[in-house]
Amino acid sequence: MTKFSHVLALLVSLGSAHLHSRHDSYQSPIIGDPTLAINSVAPSTRTYWMRQANIALGAPCPFAAFGAVVVNHTVGGLGELVCSGANSNSKTGNPIMHGEMAAITNCSAILTDPKGKYKLTPAQALNAFADLTIYTNAESCPMCASAIRWAGFREYVYGTSIDTLITKGWGQIRISSLEVVSQSFDLSKPTRLLGGVLANETDQFFFWQFDPAHKCPEGCKRDESGGSSTCKAL
Ligand SMILES: [Zn+2]
Repeated sequence: MTKFSHVLALLVSLGSAHLHSRHDSYQSPIIGDPTLAINSVAPSTRTYWMRQANIALGAPCPFAAFGAVVVNHTVGGLGELVCSGANSNSKTGNPIMHGEMAAITNCSAILTDPKGKYKLTPAQALNAFADLTIYTNAESCPMCASAIRWAGFREYVYGTSIDTLITKGWGQIRISSLEVVSQSFDLSKPTRLLGGVLANETDQFFFWQFDPAHKCPEGCKRDESGGSSTCKAL
Protein backbone atom coordinates (compact mmCIF):
# COMPACT_ATOMS: atom_id res chain seq x y z
CA MET A 1 0.00 0.00 0.00
CA THR A 2 1.38 3.42 -0.92
CA LYS A 3 1.42 6.14 1.66
CA PHE A 4 -1.33 7.94 -0.25
CA SER A 5 -3.63 4.91 -0.47
CA HIS A 6 -3.02 4.18 3.21
CA VAL A 7 -4.16 7.68 4.16
CA LEU A 8 -7.12 7.35 1.80
CA ALA A 9 -8.12 4.02 3.39
CA LEU A 10 -7.86 5.60 6.84
CA LEU A 11 -10.06 8.52 5.79
CA VAL A 12 -12.67 6.15 4.30
CA SER A 13 -12.72 4.06 7.47
CA LEU A 14 -13.07 7.19 9.63
CA GLY A 15 -15.89 8.38 7.39
CA SER A 16 -17.79 5.11 7.62
CA ALA A 17 -17.29 5.00 11.38
CA HIS A 18 -18.73 8.51 11.61
CA LEU A 19 -21.71 7.57 9.44
CA HIS A 20 -22.24 4.40 11.43
CA SER A 21 -22.34 6.21 14.76
CA ARG A 22 -24.65 8.88 13.34
CA HIS A 23 -27.01 6.21 12.03
CA ASP A 24 -27.02 4.50 15.43
CA SER A 25 -27.94 7.69 17.24
CA TYR A 26 -30.91 8.31 14.90
CA GLN A 27 -32.22 4.74 15.05
CA SER A 28 -31.63 4.05 18.72
CA PRO A 29 -34.56 2.12 20.17
CA ILE A 30 -33.85 3.43 23.65
CA ILE A 31 -36.80 5.37 25.05
CA GLY A 32 -38.27 5.57 28.54
CA ASP A 33 -39.58 2.39 30.14
CA PRO A 34 -43.39 2.58 29.77
CA THR A 35 -43.86 1.25 33.31
CA LEU A 36 -42.28 4.34 34.89
CA ALA A 37 -44.11 7.42 36.23
CA ILE A 38 -42.58 9.76 33.64
CA ASN A 39 -43.63 13.43 33.96
CA SER A 40 -45.39 12.44 37.22
CA VAL A 41 -48.10 10.47 35.39
CA ALA A 42 -48.68 7.02 36.94
CA PRO A 43 -48.28 3.98 34.65
CA SER A 44 -51.87 2.98 35.51
CA THR A 45 -53.02 6.37 34.17
CA ARG A 46 -51.08 5.80 30.96
CA THR A 47 -52.70 2.39 30.45
CA TYR A 48 -56.15 3.87 31.16
CA TRP A 49 -55.76 6.40 28.37
CA MET A 50 -54.21 3.92 25.97
CA ARG A 51 -57.30 1.74 26.42
CA GLN A 52 -59.38 4.84 25.64
CA ALA A 53 -57.42 5.18 22.37
CA ASN A 54 -58.55 1.64 21.53
CA ILE A 55 -62.13 2.50 22.50
CA ALA A 56 -61.96 5.60 20.26
CA LEU A 57 -62.10 3.17 17.33
CA GLY A 58 -65.85 2.95 17.96
CA ALA A 59 -65.90 -0.74 16.96
CA PRO A 60 -64.09 -3.83 18.31
CA CYS A 61 -62.24 -4.85 15.14
CA PRO A 62 -62.12 -2.28 12.33
CA PHE A 63 -59.48 -3.21 9.73
CA ALA A 64 -57.51 0.03 10.12
CA ALA A 65 -57.67 -0.08 13.93
CA PHE A 66 -55.70 3.10 14.55
CA GLY A 67 -57.19 5.22 17.35
CA ALA A 68 -56.00 8.21 19.38
CA VAL A 69 -57.06 10.35 22.33
CA VAL A 70 -55.78 13.75 23.43
CA VAL A 71 -55.56 14.35 27.18
CA ASN A 72 -54.72 17.30 29.41
CA HIS A 73 -52.56 15.97 32.25
CA THR A 74 -51.78 19.44 33.61
CA VAL A 75 -55.12 19.40 35.48
CA GLY A 76 -53.81 16.55 37.69
CA GLY A 77 -55.49 13.32 38.70
CA LEU A 78 -56.43 11.09 35.80
CA GLY A 79 -56.31 14.03 33.40
CA GLU A 80 -59.03 15.40 31.14
CA LEU A 81 -60.05 14.07 27.75
CA VAL A 82 -60.08 16.88 25.17
CA CYS A 83 -60.82 14.94 21.98
CA SER A 84 -60.35 11.63 20.18
CA GLY A 85 -59.93 10.35 16.64
CA ALA A 86 -59.91 7.14 14.63
CA ASN A 87 -58.60 6.29 11.18
CA SER A 88 -61.38 7.26 8.78
CA ASN A 89 -59.66 6.97 5.38
CA SER A 90 -62.23 4.53 4.02
CA LYS A 91 -65.20 6.45 5.45
CA THR A 92 -64.10 9.87 4.21
CA GLY A 93 -62.02 9.09 1.12
CA ASN A 94 -59.37 11.31 2.70
CA PRO A 95 -56.00 9.54 2.81
CA ILE A 96 -54.59 11.76 5.54
CA MET A 97 -57.33 10.95 8.04
CA HIS A 98 -55.18 8.70 10.20
CA GLY A 99 -56.23 8.45 13.85
CA GLU A 100 -53.82 11.15 14.98
CA MET A 101 -54.74 13.57 12.16
CA ALA A 102 -58.43 13.03 12.97
CA ALA A 103 -57.75 13.68 16.67
CA ILE A 104 -55.78 16.88 16.02
CA THR A 105 -58.51 18.11 13.65
CA ASN A 106 -61.20 17.31 16.22
CA CYS A 107 -59.22 18.99 19.01
CA SER A 108 -58.83 22.23 17.04
CA ALA A 109 -62.60 22.30 16.44
CA ILE A 110 -63.38 21.58 20.10
CA LEU A 111 -60.86 24.05 21.51
CA THR A 112 -62.14 26.90 19.30
CA ASP A 113 -65.88 26.09 19.47
CA PRO A 114 -67.53 29.38 20.58
CA LYS A 115 -70.28 27.35 22.26
CA GLY A 116 -67.95 24.70 23.66
CA LYS A 117 -66.08 24.25 26.92
CA TYR A 118 -62.85 26.03 25.96
CA LYS A 119 -63.88 28.92 23.63
CA LEU A 120 -60.24 29.58 22.65
CA THR A 121 -59.11 31.88 19.87
CA PRO A 122 -57.13 30.17 17.09
CA ALA A 123 -53.89 31.56 18.57
CA GLN A 124 -54.80 30.26 22.03
CA ALA A 125 -55.72 26.88 20.57
CA LEU A 126 -52.33 26.60 18.87
CA ASN A 127 -50.62 27.30 22.19
CA ALA A 128 -52.87 24.87 24.08
CA PHE A 129 -51.26 21.82 22.47
CA ALA A 130 -48.16 22.45 24.58
CA ASP A 131 -50.22 21.31 27.60
CA LEU A 132 -51.64 18.21 25.91
CA THR A 133 -50.66 14.57 25.53
CA ILE A 134 -51.62 12.45 22.53
CA TYR A 135 -52.06 8.70 23.04
CA THR A 136 -52.13 6.60 19.89
CA ASN A 137 -52.49 2.81 19.95
CA ALA A 138 -49.78 2.46 17.28
CA GLU A 139 -46.59 4.41 16.61
CA SER A 140 -47.37 7.26 14.24
CA CYS A 141 -46.36 7.23 10.60
CA PRO A 142 -43.96 10.07 9.70
CA MET A 143 -46.88 12.24 8.50
CA CYS A 144 -48.63 12.00 11.86
CA ALA A 145 -45.43 12.16 13.90
CA SER A 146 -44.59 15.37 12.03
CA ALA A 147 -48.09 16.75 12.68
CA ILE A 148 -47.62 15.94 16.37
CA ARG A 149 -44.36 17.90 16.34
CA TRP A 150 -45.92 20.81 14.43
CA ALA A 151 -48.70 20.89 17.04
CA GLY A 152 -46.07 20.97 19.80
CA PHE A 153 -47.70 18.37 22.02
CA ARG A 154 -46.23 18.11 25.51
CA GLU A 155 -46.13 14.32 25.21
CA TYR A 156 -46.63 11.72 22.49
CA VAL A 157 -47.36 8.19 23.74
CA TYR A 158 -47.75 5.16 21.51
CA GLY A 159 -48.54 1.47 21.98
CA THR A 160 -47.56 -0.87 19.13
CA SER A 161 -44.32 0.01 17.31
CA ILE A 162 -43.90 0.58 13.56
CA ASP A 163 -41.43 -2.34 13.52
CA THR A 164 -44.13 -4.62 14.92
CA LEU A 165 -46.67 -3.37 12.36
CA ILE A 166 -44.23 -4.13 9.52
CA THR A 167 -43.51 -7.59 10.95
CA LYS A 168 -47.24 -8.31 11.01
CA GLY A 169 -47.74 -7.38 7.35
CA TRP A 170 -48.66 -3.69 7.45
CA GLY A 171 -47.29 -1.37 4.79
CA GLN A 172 -45.46 1.46 6.51
CA ILE A 173 -43.11 4.31 5.69
CA ARG A 174 -39.98 3.27 7.57
CA ILE A 175 -39.18 6.42 9.47
CA SER A 176 -39.50 5.99 13.22
CA SER A 177 -41.09 8.57 15.49
CA LEU A 178 -37.80 8.71 17.34
CA GLU A 179 -36.18 9.95 14.13
CA VAL A 180 -38.93 12.52 13.48
CA VAL A 181 -38.64 13.81 17.05
CA SER A 182 -34.82 13.77 16.82
CA GLN A 183 -34.87 15.77 13.58
CA SER A 184 -37.37 18.40 14.76
CA PHE A 185 -35.14 20.12 17.30
CA ASP A 186 -35.46 23.47 15.52
CA LEU A 187 -39.13 23.70 16.50
CA SER A 188 -39.74 25.81 19.57
CA LYS A 189 -41.80 23.34 21.61
CA PRO A 190 -40.36 20.00 22.81
CA THR A 191 -42.34 16.75 22.82
CA ARG A 192 -41.57 13.89 25.20
CA LEU A 193 -41.79 10.53 23.41
CA LEU A 194 -42.99 7.40 25.22
CA GLY A 195 -43.52 4.09 23.45
CA GLY A 196 -44.64 0.55 24.11
CA VAL A 197 -47.38 1.60 26.53
CA LEU A 198 -49.86 -1.30 26.90
CA ALA A 199 -48.41 -2.81 23.72
CA ASN A 200 -49.51 -6.30 24.79
CA GLU A 201 -53.12 -5.08 24.39
CA THR A 202 -52.76 -2.69 21.46
CA ASP A 203 -50.87 -5.35 19.44
CA GLN A 204 -54.00 -7.50 19.34
CA PHE A 205 -55.77 -4.87 17.25
CA PHE A 206 -53.12 -5.20 14.49
CA PHE A 207 -52.13 -8.88 14.44
CA TRP A 208 -55.16 -10.47 12.78
CA GLN A 209 -55.51 -8.59 9.49
CA PHE A 210 -52.83 -10.49 7.52
CA ASP A 211 -52.77 -13.70 9.57
CA PRO A 212 -55.88 -15.87 9.14
CA ALA A 213 -54.64 -18.12 11.96
CA HIS A 214 -54.56 -15.29 14.51
CA LYS A 215 -57.49 -14.94 16.87
CA CYS A 216 -59.74 -11.93 16.52
CA PRO A 217 -59.82 -9.06 19.04
CA GLU A 218 -62.31 -9.43 21.88
CA GLY A 219 -65.89 -9.02 20.68
CA CYS A 220 -65.15 -10.31 17.17
CA LYS A 221 -64.98 -13.63 15.35
CA ARG A 222 -63.56 -14.93 12.08
CA ASP A 223 -65.73 -14.58 8.99
CA GLU A 224 -64.73 -16.51 5.86
CA SER A 225 -68.00 -15.95 4.00
CA GLY A 226 -66.69 -13.28 1.63
CA GLY A 227 -63.98 -15.52 0.17
CA SER A 228 -61.33 -14.05 2.45
CA SER A 229 -60.74 -14.35 6.17
CA THR A 230 -61.56 -11.29 8.22
CA CYS A 231 -62.70 -10.42 11.74
CA LYS A 232 -66.22 -9.15 12.25
CA ALA A 233 -68.00 -7.88 15.36
CA LEU A 234 -70.12 -10.49 17.13
ZN1 LIG B 1 -50.29 8.45 10.26
